[in-house]
Order: sequence, then structure tokens, then C-alpha cells
Amino acid sequence: MADLAAVRSDTPGCREQVFLDSAGSSLPPAPVLTTVIEHLRRESEVGGYRAAAERQDALEGGYGTFAELLGCAPDEVAFTDSATRSWLSLLDAIPFREGDRVLVGESEYAANAVALLRHAERFGTRLEVVPSDGSGQLDVAALRGRLDERVRLVSAVHVPTQGGLVNPVREITRAAHEAGALVMLDACQSVGQLPVRMDELGVDMLTGTGRKWLRGPRGTGFLAVRRSVLDHLAPRQIDHSGASWVAERAYRLRADARVLQLWETGIAERLGLIRAAEYLLELGVAQVATSVAWRAAHLRDALADLPGVRVHDLGERTCGIVTFTVTGVDPERVRDRLAERGVTVTVSTAASSRMDLPRRGLDAVVRASPHYFVTAEQLDACVAAVADLARVPGMSPRS
Ligand SMILES: *Cc1c(COP(=O)(O)O)cnc(C)c1O
Repeated sequence: MADLAAVRSDTPGCREQVFLDSAGSSLPPAPVLTTVIEHLRRESEVGGYRAAAERQDALEGGYGTFAELLGCAPDEVAFTDSATRSWLSLLDAIPFREGDRVLVGESEYAANAVALLRHAERFGTRLEVVPSDGSGQLDVAALRGRLDERVRLVSAVHVPTQGGLVNPVREITRAAHEAGALVMLDACQSVGQLPVRMDELGVDMLTGTGRKWLRGPRGTGFLAVRRSVLDHLAPRQIDHSGASWVAERAYRLRADARVLQLWETGIAERLGLIRAAEYLLELGVAQVATSVAWRAAHLRDALADLPGVRVHDLGERTCGIVTFTVTGVDPERVRDRLAERGVTVTVSTAASSRMDLPRRGLDAVVRASPHYFVTAEQLDACVAAVADLARVPGMSPRS
């Protein structure tokens, strides 16, 4: 990071602790926090409608900011209250026919998987799992082997929640498009730590969240959908902002992606989300990606060298998520003991990755996700704390 001191002084929470949970819910920088708080204060002074009207330019500008970030057009962007809401409303808008096939990878996210199982029950679609290749990434050759004209949708997770790999999205998209299938990209764990551009990846739809690597407020999400695809969607859950009520018995749908947005939202949080995207663009997406990759590699290599510690990240290409276990110590206990030492990590469990962790013989892994504001000394402090845990008598096979 070009100016580590500046980003750290914008992030008071990263001084008191070693914060390694940007894949869970990161620390918003001061400009995001100020934006949210100031808007809440303004609402208390003049009411929500006037306060929103005063920030109309910023709210409208948000579509352009996300278009720049995601490599699409402003009218292809919509805001929601979570990545899952984005994903569900896109899924719901795809005109499936009974018997349509939906292909997912083994690292599919729990919320998406549950929604697809439900969808299969209700609408007669078929959920099928494409195996991973030897590296752990979605196997593009296996995907090609399964594609035919009945595949309506391929759901690709860019970076899984439970491991540091990066799926080969461009190759997945190319294969899917050759067979006429749509591609929906879950970019929840990639936007904010990696460059994620629709124009480069070729995906038809993309979903993401505010609270993770983007460092926005909780309860915020976004989506992007290609114009050419939007014209073929049939949004079902619309309100009077997605459509205008033009006569007693008539409505007209919006022509842009905002057809998928509902009228009511937390304006303070929306403004905070937009500010978070601006902050990222000011820092530079490429610079952020380099900083995160360096930190994760440093941490991963140091943990891998510790006796009694196993690193579990798969994939040819890795990113900012580092997963590991300490032999003989439950992941929850590792998390709690590290918290006592001022190190914040979290645990990914089989419940959020049924098709991945159990297949690898794992119930849970500890997940550390260092953002660009973490220093090398802090990473080393984490490694030292893990080393002490792995050395506790009776807990290590070497003792
Ligand atoms: C966190 C996460 C989500 C869901 O994000 P929400 O904002 O909680 O809806 C979806 N996919 C992946 C891969 C995630 O890690």
C-alpha cells in the first residue's frame, strides 16, 4: 500500500488489534463512518425525505461509481440490502422452464445452494454440481462435459467463503456461453480485494456485498446485470420504484437494472456503501489487490511452516483468504484464543460449505483474511499466537 500510514489512520480499529476478518465483516474507514453518521444526524434534523433530497447527487452518482468499479454501465447497476438479496432477486427474475438445469461448483455458497434446492422443489429445475479439478478450482473441462441446451444457468463463485482460491471465471463464462447458458457471478469475496470487471470476465450477472472487502456498512449489497440479459429477465418482485403505476390497472417496468430495486432503503447505509467504493477507487483496485495478495501469501507461508498447523487453501490462483487448522485444537477454540491475544479471525464451517469442506474431510477451518491496512508486524504477531497454541502441551501431537 503506497500510504499505509494514511489508510491506517483512517482505520482506528486496526491499531488496537490484529484485524484479520475482512472476508467476514471488515472495518469501515473513517470517510464511510462519517458519511453514515452525518446522514443519520441530518435525518434527525430535517426528516428522511429532505435529508435524502439533499444527497440526491451522491445517491445518483453511486450508479456511476459502481459501474466504474465493476466494468459495466450505470444503468446496469442496482443497490440492495445484501448480496444474498441481489442473488435471490436475479434468480427469481430468470424465466426458467421445468427441467432446466442449473450448474454450480463444489464451493457454492450456502445461501445460494439452499435457494437453488428450494427452487428445484418449487419449479422443477435441476441443481447439478460440477466437480473441482486437481487444484480445487471449478473444473472447466468437466463443466464443458455437462453443458447442453437445457442448462439455463451456471452459478460461479469467484472466491469461496471458506478458502483462498480464485475460480477461473473467464473460462467458465466462455464455456457456458458457447452452450447458451447464463452466468451469474457471486463476487462477494472478490469485489474489494481483486479487480472484478464484467467487461473482462464476460459474466451476465454479478452480485456483491458492502460489508466485506469493500469496507462498507452492513446491510448493503449491489448487483449488476448486462443490458442484453436484462431484456430477457422477468422480474417478479417489483414495487412502485421498479415499475411505475401508470393507470388503475396498468404499470410500466423500468428499463434498467433498478427494476430489481425496492423503494425503501437505509439511505445512510447506501451513501456509506457508495463512499466505500469511491475510497477503493481512490486507493486503486490494482494496488489494493497487490497489497492483499502479499499479506495473505506472507501469512499463509508462515503458518504452513509451523509444526501442528495445516493450511487448507486450494487453487492455482490464491487470494486474500487464508484457512488453516491447528492439530488437536477446535477451530472455535483457536478463534477464541487468538481473540484473547488481540487477533480477530473467524471460523468457516461445513454448514456454509456442504459440498466442499466435508468432501475434504473437514468440519471447519479457521479463516484469516488480512486487508491492506494490516502491517507485516501484525501478521507476524498472529503467526506467533498460532505457534503458541500449536505448542500447548497435550494439544499438539508433537508434545
Ligand atoms: C458472505 C457471502 C455471501 C452473502 O453476502 P450477504 O451480504 O451476507 O448476503 C454470498 N456469497 C459468498 C461467497 C459470501 O462469502
